[in-house]
Amino acid sequence: MNSPTLAEFALAETYVASIPAGYRNHSKRHVGFWKPWLRQAFMFRCAYCTASEAELCSAGYFQIDHFVPRKRDRTRSRDYYNLVYACYPCNQRKRAQFPSEQQLAQGIELLNPSSGARFPFHITENASGWLTGKTQSGSLSVQILALNTRDDVRERNLRRAAEIDNHRALMRRLAEFLMQTVDLQITRGDPTGQLAQRSSDIQAQMAQCRAELHRRYGHLLKHLDL
Ligand SMILES: [Zn+2]
Repeated sequence: MNSPTLAEFALAETYVASIPAGYRNHSKRHVGFWKPWLRQAFMFRCAYCTASEAELCSAGYFQIDHFVPRKRDRTRSRDYYNLVYACYPCNQRKRAQFPSEQQLAQGIELLNPSSGARFPFHITENASGWLTGKTQSGSLSVQILALNTRDDVRERNLRRAAEIDNHRALMRRLAEFLMQTVDLQITRGDPTGQLAQRSSDIQAQMAQCRAELHRRYGHLLKHLDL
């Protein structure tokens, strides 16, 4: 079974920055002025560890990171596409770290959450919530962003447990609907075939739900009662 798609990196795959109206690359305004736009663009989550404001119980804990550090390229210090919404710990860990010119020449990059980098192509998550690079860019990104801190790993496991619980709750509800439909068929009969169709639809939904669970968490299913 392949590794599950990393749900937490889905944001990185879909994020498309749109420059706020009135934004000027060389505006005299401090980039902090644009924080509300960045919060929304990054869906109120850290672009690196994906912790949400709700999970960290604070919006004030978030900062604006320059993906290409200012020390590396001052011309991009006000480039909106270079601004990343990041939690304080990630921003502190990353600081001015960036691949060397030699690494960049070899195609080894820091994965950019703003550019639609396919994180699941570069990074995999094991059953314990530990991230490992599948490519050199993935390994470098895990290292620079320190994505395996104890808090990060714990948060990933909590999220995964919550997702699995949601799937199981959905399957329980579908099973209840199915039983009710079968009871109706027994007590009322089903001359028009509507109840049989409904049973078949519910079974199809259950199969979809089970398939999704296997796709994401197949390597964990031996621990689950499904
Ligand atoms: Zn973070």
